[in-house]
Amino acid sequence: MEGIVIKKNSNLFTISSMGAFFDVLPSGKTKKDGIFVGDVVEFQDTITKVKTRKNLLIRPPLANLDKLFIVVSVSPKPDFVLVDKILVYCYLNDIEPVLVINKTDLADEKFVSDVEKDYGEFLKIIKVSAKEKLVEEIKQNVEGVCALAGQSAVGKSSIINSLLGDKVAEIGNLSKKIERGKQTTRVVQLYKLGNGYLADTAGFSKLDLTMISSLKKEELASYYPDFLHARSHCKYRSCLHEGGECGIISYVKDGKISKRRYENYLKILQELKNSEKY
Ligand code: GDP
Ligand code: ZN
Repeated sequence: MEGIVIKKNSNLFTISSMGAFFDVLPSGKTKKDGIFVGDVVEFQDTITKVKTRKNLLIRPPLANLDKLFIVVSVSPKPDFVLVDKILVYCYLNDIEPVLVINKTDLADEKFVSDVEKDYGEFLKIIKVSAKEKLVEEIKQNVEGVCALAGQSAVGKSSIINSLLGDKVAEIGNLSKKIERGKQTTRVVQLYKLGNGYLADTAGFSKLDLTMISSLKKEELASYYPDFLHARSHCKYRSCLHEGGECGIISYVKDGKISKRRYENYLKILQELKNSEKY
C-alpha cells in the first residue's frame, strides 16, 4: 500500500492511506531517521520504501511541502525582508506561496492596501482574523501538504488553533495542543483539512540565509516575479540591479516595481554577498 506519513512518534509512523490511518514501523532498510512527516511511503507490515521527495524543511521537519501560507500582520512591526526571503525559498523549492494578512480586525487599511500593491500582482492574498475566528478561506485553499510560516507573533498559532482546534481535541491530544506553535516544538503532525493536510506547527519565524545560500547573487532577482519584465531592460546580463543602466531601477523610479520590494532585495543581495566571502 501507499500513503503519506502524518505523524512520527519515536519509532512509530502514522500513515494516512485510502481514508484510514495505520501505525507502522520502519523496516531494516528504511531507517526511522530517514523518514519524515509528509513523506509518501510504501508499506505493508513495515515501511518498505520512501518515495523521492521534492523538498524537505528542517524546522519543523516536514517533507514534500506543496503550499506555504506566509502570515503577515500590521503589528508587531512587519518584517518584509523575511517575507521576501521566504518567497525566494518557496520558488527555489517548488512550494506555492500564499500571503495571509491576519489581524484584519485591527483594520489598518493602509497596511492592507500597501501589501496588496506590493504582492497582489503575483501572489494570492487571503485576509483573515484569527481573533474573530474568520479563517475559513485558508481552509478552502488547503491543497496537498500545507504549512504556515511568518515572523513571531503574527498569529500563526492562533490561526492553527482556529483551524485545527476541534480536530486536535477529537483525537484527545491535549498535551499537543499546549505545545503547538511554539518555536521550540520539534514535532510536527499533519491534519486532514480541506483538500489536503495542514501542519500543526509553523515554521520560519526567522529564515537563516543558509536556507537560500545555494543561490548565486546573480540569480536572486530571477526569483522575483514582479521583476521579470524589467530585467530584460538591463544593459548587462549579469546585472545585480544596484546601479547603472538597469531596467529594474528605472521601473522602480516609474513606480512600476515596489520601492519596498526593491530596497529589501538590495538587503538580501547584500547578505548573499557577505555570505559568499566566507
Ligand atoms: P505566532 O507567534 O505567530 O504563533 O502568534 P500567536 O498566535 O501566538 O499570536 C500573537 C498575539 O497576537 C497573541 O496575543 C494573539 O492573541 C494575537 N492575535 C492573533 N491573531 C489575532 C487577530 O486576528 N487579531 C488580533 N487583534 N490579535 C490576534
Ligand atoms: Zn538591472
